[in-house]
Amino acid sequence: MSATSTDRLRRRFLLAAGGAVLLPRARLALATGPQRRVVVLGAGWGGLAAARALRRQLPDAEVVVVDRAARFFSLPQSTAWLVGRDDHGPPEHDLAAAARRGGYRFVQSEVTSVDRRRRTVATSAGMLRYDWLVVAPGIREDTLPWVDGDPEAAAHLARDFSAGFADADGARALKARLEAFAGGEVVVSIPAGPARCPPAPYERVLALAWWFGQRRLKTTITVLDAGGGIAGFRQAFEDQFPETIRFMPRTAIRRVDPASRRVLTDFDELRFDQALLAAPQRAGALAGMLGLLAPGADGRDGHWAAVEPLTLRSRADERVFVVGDAAGEASPLFGHYPKTGHMAARQGAIAAAAIAAAARGDEAEPTLPDSVCFVHHSLEPPELTRIATRYRIRGDGEIVQEVDQRRINQPRGEAQAWAREMLRDALGLL
Ligand SMILES: Cc1cc2nc3c(=O)[nH]c(=O)nc-3n(C[C@H](O)[C@H](O)[C@H](O)COP(=O)(O)OP(=O)(O)OC[C@H]3O[C@@H](n4cnc5c(N)ncnc54)[C@H](O)[C@@H]3O)c2cc1C
Repeated sequence: MSATSTDRLRRRFLLAAGGAVLLPRARLALATGPQRRVVVLGAGWGGLAAARALRRQLPDAEVVVVDRAARFFSLPQSTAWLVGRDDHGPPEHDLAAAARRGGYRFVQSEVTSVDRRRRTVATSAGMLRYDWLVVAPGIREDTLPWVDGDPEAAAHLARDFSAGFADADGARALKARLEAFAGGEVVVSIPAGPARCPPAPYERVLALAWWFGQRRLKTTITVLDAGGGIAGFRQAFEDQFPETIRFMPRTAIRRVDPASRRVLTDFDELRFDQALLAAPQRAGALAGMLGLLAPGADGRDGHWAAVEPLTLRSRADERVFVVGDAAGEASPLFGHYPKTGHMAARQGAIAAAAIAAAARGDEAEPTLPDSVCFVHHSLEPPELTRIATRYRIRGDGEIVQEVDQRRINQPRGEAQAWAREMLRDALGLL
C-alpha cells in the first residue's frame, strides 16, 4: 500500500473515531511522518490552552493531546458543585469533542514513559514521536510520609479521605462521601505552599460549614493549617461559624491512620468521622519521570520542574516545555507563579508561542503571564474576593509580581463569567 493511501485510510479512521484517537501500536507508529508534531501531555488548563494556541500559531504542525481522562473537570468550579450551589451538574467537558472543534488530535491514554533522546512518548495506546513536547501534568500529593511509606495506607487515604484537590476522581469521590455524611467530627488539612489556588481550601471550609448548616448536621470542622492562614478567611471563620469551625494555624500533620481515622499533629491526636486531607503538593509524577525536576536543597531531585520563566522551556531539554502547576520557581523575589487555572492557561499560550518561534528558527518575544482568581469569603450573603496578579521585568532582569486584591460585596456573576470566558476562549471547551 502506498504512503498516500495509508494516510487516506488513517484519516478516515481518525474521522470515524470522531477525533478521539485510540490507535493500536502499529497504527500509531504509522501516524508519524515528515509533518512536525507537538505532543501535549495533560489536558487540563495548561495543556488545553497550549493545544489551542498551537493550532493557531503553528497551523502546519500536528498537535496531539494525551490525557488519561476522557473528560476535562474544572476544579475552580468544584466547590460550588460539591455543596449543591451549582445545579448544572459536574463541571465537566468532553475532551474528544473539544479536540474535534479545535482541530487537534486527542489520545485518551496513560503516559507511561518518555524517551527524550529519541523524542518519543509511550502511552497505553501506543508510541508517539514528537518534535516538541508540552508537559502539563498538574500536581500530585505526597501522602507517603504521613503513613510511614505504606502504599496501601496511602491508597486508602487517597480513596476515602482526599480533599479532592489534585484531580477529578478525588473531587467526585469527595462528593459521594459528603452526600453520605451524617454529621460528626470533620478534619480538614491545608498544606504549606507552594500549592494550587491557596485561598481555595479556606473557601471550601466556609462552603462546607454553610452546607452542613443547611442540612442541619451536627458537625465540628477542625482546620489543621500547616501555614498561618489568610487573615480575611480567619475573620470569616470567626464571624460566620464560631461554633462550627475550629482553626488551628501552624499545625502540620505528622501521621494519619486511615483505618482508625486518626490524625497526629505535633500537639494533638484527633479522631475524625470524615476528613479532607490535603497533603504537601509536588509537580505531577510525569515531571519526575522525564527528569525535569529542579534540584532540591540536598542536591537531589526537588519537587517542581525547572523552567525558564519567560518561555516555560525546561532547563533540562530545549524541546520540552512545562506549563501549569508543575512548573517551579519563576523568581527569587516571589517564588512560583500562582498555581491557578488562569495562570496555567496563560503559560500554555506562552509555551505555544515559544514553540512556534522555534519552528521558524526564531526566538519568541518574552511575554509575561497574569492570573485572576475569585473566591467567596461569604456564601450567604454571597461576597467575593478577586485576586489579580500581574508581572513586570525589573531593570536587573528579575520578574516582579504585583497583586491586586479587592472585595466584591454584591457580586453579579463575576466568577461565573470568568469561568465561562476561560473555558470558551482559552481552553476551547464551550
Ligand atoms: C478547589 C479548587 C479551586 C480552585 N479555584 C481556582 C480558581 O478560582 N481560579 C483558578 O484560576 N484556579 C483555581 N484552581 C487551580 C486550578 O484548578 C489549577 O491551577 C489548574 O487545574 C492547573 O492546571 P494544570 O494544567 O497545571 O493541571 P490540571 O488541570 O490538573 O491538568 C493535568 C492533567 O494531566 C493529566 N495527567 C497527569 N499525568 C498523566 C499521565 N501520566 N498520563 C495521562 N494524563 C496525565 C491529568 O489527568 C489532568 O487532566 C483551583 C483548584 C482547586 C483544587
